[in-house]
Amino acid sequence: MTQPLSGKSALVTGGTRGIGRAIAERLAADGARVTVTGTRPGGDAPGGGAYLACDFLDVRATAAFAEDVARLDPDILVNNAGINRIAPFAEIDPADFAAIQQVNVTAPMMLCRAVVPGMRARGGGRIVNIASIWGVISKAQRASYSASKFAVDGMTKALAAEVAADGILANCVAPGFIDTEMTRTVLGEAGMAELAAQVPMKRVGKPAEIAALVAWLTGPENTYISGQTIVIDGGFTNV
Ligand code: NAP
Repeated sequence: MTQPLSGKSALVTGGTRGIGRAIAERLAADGARVTVTGTRPGGDAPGGGAYLACDFLDVRATAAFAEDVARLDPDILVNNAGINRIAPFAEIDPADFAAIQQVNVTAPMMLCRAVVPGMRARGGGRIVNIASIWGVISKAQRASYSASKFAVDGMTKALAAEVAADGILANCVAPGFIDTEMTRTVLGEAGMAELAAQVPMKRVGKPAEIAALVAWLTGPENTYISGQTIVIDGGFTNV
């Protein structure tokens, strides 16, 4: 049976672990040639794909990396790498605030900009930016993170409007509480259990569940969804 992403190339940022790793594994299993990124040298990629290192906190390195990505010219771009530092509003460190915007908004913008010309020339492409429920609703101590995720949502909507006529579909996926290192670091074990109890489905999500949605949005069955933010949170944002 032909795999849905056979013959396609995909770039997944932050593909060393967590949600990004699950997305990379799923796209590779669906037949794509997958390149993943991380911050450290010497990583690997599922399905024998390539690994590239770039720390998006480094503005110059990110600009150089965007040029590499333009040459790589993927059919599918998934901007997944992200960071979160929670703080009471009065204690927000402007340097932390800027760092979060750099990794969560500026780097995705530069990579979207890098891939669009190639996608346009081929007559199509798929972009998914990983946002968050904190880019749809918000919560105390999430100002810096919410600022970045609401921004990614707005940026993606504008991009989608510009590139739709070229066959490029751009969307955001907004996960709720997903069992990854990021969530465990921010919340701790007790916080994880407490949050799971607040989710209508009474559990946190799995990275593979996010990956399945991304695979669908970037695959051949998605022919008409663009400019959307699709929340995947076990029902949390509606309670
Ligand atoms: P994670 O487990 O912390 O993994 C983060 C990934 O991003 C890693 O591959 C990491 O690479 C990379 N990364 C971190 N800092 C980076 C930097 N400065 N430059 C380049 N890459 C960097 O995160 P996750 O929980 O899977 O989250 C992935 C995405 O989903 C993020 O955008 C996050 O905001 C979003 N999200 C997560 C949740 C959740 O519940 N987990 C919910 C909503 C949205 P290294 O391994 O090299 O550090």
